[in-house]
Formats: sequence, C-alpha cells, structure tokens
Amino acid sequence: MPQRVAVIGSGFSGLSVATSLAHKGYDVTILEKNEMPGGRARLFRAEGFTYDMGPSWYWMPDVFETYFARFGKTPADYYNLVRLNPSYKVVFSPTEAVDMPANLDELKALFDSIEPGSGARLTEFLRQAFYKYDVGINNFVWKPSRSVTEFMSIKLLYDVTRLDVFQSFASHARKFFTHPRLLQLIEFPILFLGATPQNTPAMYSMMNYAEMVGGTWYPMGGMHKIIEGMVALAQEKGVKILLNQTVQRIETVGDTAKRVHTTQGVFEADVVVASADYNHVETSLVAPSERNYSDEYWAKRVMAPSSLLFYLGVNKRIPKLEHHNLFFDEDFGLHAQEIYETPKWPSKPLFYASAPSKTDPSVAPAGMENLFLLIPVAPDLTDDEATRERYYHLIMQRLEAYVGENIRDHVIYKRSYAHRDFKADYNAFRGNAYGLANTLMQTAILKPTLKNKKVRNLFYTGQLTVPGPGVPPSLISGLVVADEVAKEFSV
Ligand SMILES: Cc1cc2nc3c(=O)[nH]c(=O)nc-3n(C[C@H](O)[C@H](O)[C@H](O)COP(=O)(O)OP(=O)(O)OC[C@H]3O[C@@H](n4cnc5c(N)ncnc54)[C@H](O)[C@@H]3O)c2cc1C
Repeated sequence: MPQRVAVIGSGFSGLSVATSLAHKGYDVTILEKNEMPGGRARLFRAEGFTYDMGPSWYWMPDVFETYFARFGKTPADYYNLVRLNPSYKVVFSPTEAVDMPANLDELKALFDSIEPGSGARLTEFLRQAFYKYDVGINNFVWKPSRSVTEFMSIKLLYDVTRLDVFQSFASHARKFFTHPRLLQLIEFPILFLGATPQNTPAMYSMMNYAEMVGGTWYPMGGMHKIIEGMVALAQEKGVKILLNQTVQRIETVGDTAKRVHTTQGVFEADVVVASADYNHVETSLVAPSERNYSDEYWAKRVMAPSSLLFYLGVNKRIPKLEHHNLFFDEDFGLHAQEIYETPKWPSKPLFYASAPSKTDPSVAPAGMENLFLLIPVAPDLTDDEATRERYYHLIMQRLEAYVGENIRDHVIYKRSYAHRDFKADYNAFRGNAYGLANTLMQTAILKPTLKNKKVRNLFYTGQLTVPGPGVPPSLISGLVVADEVAKEFSV
C-alpha cells in the first residue's frame, strides 16, 4: 500500500506538496478548512464581479514553468498568460506618475530621463541582480535548510560572497542611483519581501531582475486560474481534496503522528504535512510538548505586514488607471516606521490599487471596473469597521485626486478585509497576510524549520517556512518538502 499522506491546507504550498507526493506514488488527501481550495489565493464573485482575494502580481514565470514541468505539463495547459505593458504605474503625486515599460530599452530611457546616465547603471545593476536571481532561484531556494552543512560547498561559499548577503539593499541601491524617484522605483519590489530596504539583504535585488527582466504577467481569468490549474493537476495525480474540513488535532502515539482529527472525521495517516499557518499548527494542532518553538520565539519573529483590503465594483471605467497602480504619494519612511518600529494604524499610508478589468473583461460587467485596494499595515492591530471606513475614505480621496474624477459615488459593490478576516479564514498568526519578513536573521536555516523535531513524520510547508512568502516560494516550498518526505518515508 502506498503511504497515506494527510496534507493540511490547500494553498499553493499544500497543493504543491500534495501533487508532488501523489506523483511519487503516495496516497494523498488534502484537508482544507474553507469551502474552496486556494488559501490566500481564493476568489469570490459578487454583483457580476470576480475578485482574486489575495495575490495579484504574477512574477517569476520560470518558477511556474518549473513547477508544471515536474509533472510533464506547462502553465499553458491550464491557463492563458499575458505579459502586462506597462508593467505597472507609480503615482508620485496627483500630477506626477510614471508607467514602467515592459521593454528594457524603454525602461533604461525612462531612467535616463529622470537621472542622466542612470540607464547604463541600471544595466550593471541588473547584471548583478541576474547573478543573484540565478544562484537564488536555481540553487538556494531549493535547499531544505535543515543544516548549515547544506551550504558548505566551495561553489556556494563563493556564491555567498557575490550575493551581497551582508549588505543592505538600501546601501546597494544607492551605489547605482541617487534620484529619490529612481530609488523609490528600485526599492518597490523589496516591499514584497515584508521588510524595509535597510533591513533586507542586497541579494534581494534578484527581485528587480524578476520584475524588470522577467516581467509582470497575468493569467486571464485571474490569479485563481493558477489554483484551478493546480487543483486539476493534483486530481489527475489522484490527490483527494476534502473541503470544509477544519483540522482540530494531530494525534500522535509516541513520536509518531497517527491520525488527523477534523470537524468532520478522523483520517489515518503515515505522514502529515501541515501547510496551514505554522504558528497555528504549533499552538492548536499538536501537544505543547511537541512544538518546535516557544511563545517567546514566536513573539520575536518579524512579520511581513498585514493588509487592509477593499474589493470594489465601480459602475464606470477609470481611464487613468493601469492594471497595477502604486500610490507612492506619501513618505515611505513614516509608513515603514508605523509598520515595523512603532506598530500602529499608519498616518499617511502608501497603497496599491489593482484594476484587473483593464486586462481582463471577464472580471467585471461591461463598462465597469474591478478595483482591489491594498494598504500594508502592521500585524495584530485592533481592526474594526470604523477604522476600515476611515482608511477607505483616506485612500479614495487620493485615488480620486489622481484620476481626476469621483469614484466613491460609483461604487456599487464594496467589501473590506483585514486582520480579523485573516485570523478567521486562515488561522493567521497575528493576522499576518504574507508570513515572515525576509530579513537576514529570518533567512534559510534561520527560518522555522520544515520538519517537526519531536514528531518524526510531521512536516511543515508554506510561507512561514523555507524558502519564504509569495506565490513562487510557496510552490517551491511544497516541492522541497515532498522531496524531504520521500527521503525519509519511501513509498
Ligand atoms: C492580500 C495578499 C496579497 C498578496 N499578493 C501577492 C502577490 O501579488 N504575489 C505573490 O507572489 N504573493 C502574494 N501574496 C502572498 C501569497 O499569496 C502567499 O505567500 C501564498 O499564497 C501562501 O500560500 P500558503 O500555501 O503558504 O498559505 P495559504 O494560502 O494560507 O494556505 C494555507 C491553507 O491552510 C488552511 N488552513 C488553515 N488552518 C487550517 C486548519 N486548522 N485545518 C485545515 N486547513 C487549514 C487555510 O484555509 C489555507 O487554505 C499575497 C498575499 C496576500 C494575503
């Protein structure tokens, strides 16, 4: 009999680990608490609009290619990908914005127009960033990071020195660019990593390579199309996906997990892989003596920001917006301070507005706009309706100032989402949106480890363990953990 594997959760990492293990011959069942698979990448429909609930940026198409290639497939077997041009818009003030061209020569010309000579420096910056991307994506992120010895090869040590691990992204960027606008453009992708450019290692300039050279893409129909493709592939491999199954306990005998108890039943398992929030698994699903980490450990983790989100349906088109729009019209330093140093609701937050209906007519009724607004905020804030409403008006005012027209009177559908929803829907530690910040002290072997140290057949995957948060890392996390399971528990 193939070994029975219970996977807790059906986000990117859960689907990835489940599909990979089923492909290797295991008998895999996913137990998911929500009514649909996808985790943070679920969707909902309302009033003719289709909303992706979480991720909206499709970067690193090569990682998705690698994922599907593991199973003899390509993304095109499941969804239709288009490259966005411009990649995104950055709004600096009601009267000043730039559109980031997808074409690299046009991008260099844009840099030159802001700071003469910076186009050539961008070439060198991206040459170094390519090296980091190549080593990072083809080598480092595939390490299970269970021991420092994994990194003890001459080649890897040589790579580490050229990766600028010990230099901050902020000082690295300033060696190439001085104009504040260029620094804002170059530091933007770092915000995805959940820490400030000062606290992020310079090796993450690989994100600039991913964004500027790899491009910003969009799966027609929405990001949930990736989930639908992954679900179809998982089912082709024989994975059983059981929904509305909130896991309540992992039952162990001695040092071995034996059963998974859900709200609907009990499932026997030879191996358990938890892709649900790592802290939730530790604090609610295993006995206190079986935890890897103490409350003190978790209290010291630097979390990536949580988010206040608005899903809006607008009964007209908004010509001045692009598919992705970043509102950098306030001071990032102050916003970062109010996320990381003195956590509180931000005074003047930056925000992000996505209008996928610019690219995809299927996500909004004809003549209307599907609008998704995201404000990064500190985790664990008191989250009530009045606060959400205050921020709604604060950012809508700025959005309207830039687009030069009233939008609020045209909103025919509105839903907000923040900390308490992340907790209720995903059991998210401190209401986190995208896991742990990618600081140096939370990288590779310094991240929560992918295996339980006391229960020999319990593994973890997902955005709180290696390699980290984001869709591509979560896919990789599932594949890495599947290989670790296979090393220890052969079929
Ligand atoms: C608003 C937002 C925007 C983002 N934008 C981007 C982006 O543009 N690009 C990008 O690459 N990344 C983005 N991310 C990050 C990315 O979405 C995540 O890193 C990724 O989806 C995490 O996948 P995961 O499998 O680790 O976790 P999850 O998706 O959270 O999956 C965990 C699953 O476990 C389930 N679960 C929890 N507890 C239990 C239980 N007790 N029993 C059973 N099931 C349980 C949950 O319901 C969930 O389905 C964004 C995230 C958010 C929230």
